[in-house]
Amino acid sequence: MNYKQVIDTLYETTKIVPDDLRALLTSMDAEDEAYLYEKARDVRERIYGKDVYLRGLIEFSNYCKNNCYYCGIRADNHKADRYRLSHEDIVHCANQGYALGFRTVVLQSGEDLSYTDEDICDLVRAIKRQHPDVAITLSIGEKEKESYQKYFNAGAERYLLRQETSNPKHYGMLHPKELSIAHRKQCLSDLKEIGYQVGGGIMVGTPGQKVEHVMEDLYYMQDFGFHMIGIGPFIPHQDTPFRDEKAGTLLDTLHLIAIIRLMNPHVLLPATTALGTIDPRGREMGILAGANVVMPNLSPRGVRKKYMLYDGKICTGDEAAECHRCMERRMESIGYHVVVDRGDYKN
Ligand code: SAH
Repeated sequence: MNYKQVIDTLYETTKIVPDDLRALLTSMDAEDEAYLYEKARDVRERIYGKDVYLRGLIEFSNYCKNNCYYCGIRADNHKADRYRLSHEDIVHCANQGYALGFRTVVLQSGEDLSYTDEDICDLVRAIKRQHPDVAITLSIGEKEKESYQKYFNAGAERYLLRQETSNPKHYGMLHPKELSIAHRKQCLSDLKEIGYQVGGGIMVGTPGQKVEHVMEDLYYMQDFGFHMIGIGPFIPHQDTPFRDEKAGTLLDTLHLIAIIRLMNPHVLLPATTALGTIDPRGREMGILAGANVVMPNLSPRGVRKKYMLYDGKICTGDEAAECHRCMERRMESIGYHVVVDRGDYKN
């Protein structure tokens, strides 16, 4: 297999046939791997230059009604120390973020039914009122279309909801039977129809994940036309059914970041905290493989350790300002620059 030729075709056309994609996902030597990253960087720099967009992540509640087998804040994890931030706390985090130069905040939580649609809308409106130039991203799970519409009307513009895996059988291996990929995909099309910038994504190396599943995800994401794609390694959490499973690898994640960039040139693609957790320089390497977004934490220090989706999650002891400075330094160290910008999708 001439990998360089396959990569060149993908680079020039954003298209790849299944046989070539399977080959690309199977094995590759270090030289071809370096070529893949180089091409992915080239595409990224053509569109976004050396800019790195910041998303300030506010993890406002770790209560969750769901029982995803991989997730540390699943309902049945009775060891999780639960918390909820108040309206005032959340707005305070957003204000702090604004002062540091964040122009996007991501409000993320478990599927916590104690916040009504009105609560979410009030939050969005309150942040927007104080900072009209901030983009608000929600990441609060599956909702009715009417709810998504309300949040949008209140001023939320982006929504993150990873499909986790597009394959129904594999989805069933990661989730209890109340959850289905069909419903997830319904939510994703509802969000798109309403007019959100929509983010999908997967975990890399989840139990039972096969090359075929990853191929299905890559084609699904390209067909859907996501504005944002978040991927990171699966990392086991000690108090979940997957406690003894193996984590996804750094190399597999970097490899996929590069392929996703080539298949979706304009996509907003974060080098995730999970990537930074499995390797101290994971996020830098993610940027060098074609990512263009990082998501430092803005949650109050007191709750950081409680939003434990997986074991060993980094940045749980730092203040928002430290996280911000640390990220600036990390990006400068590889020749990229964190910018004060909403970081919208460029068409
Ligand atoms: N309740 C929201 C937010 C979920 S947390 C929602 O459903 O969208 C955000 C992401 O963290 C999830 O989509 C999942 O892909 C990731 N995640 C959860 N547990 C993880 C683990 N053990 N390892 C790596 N990533 C994990």
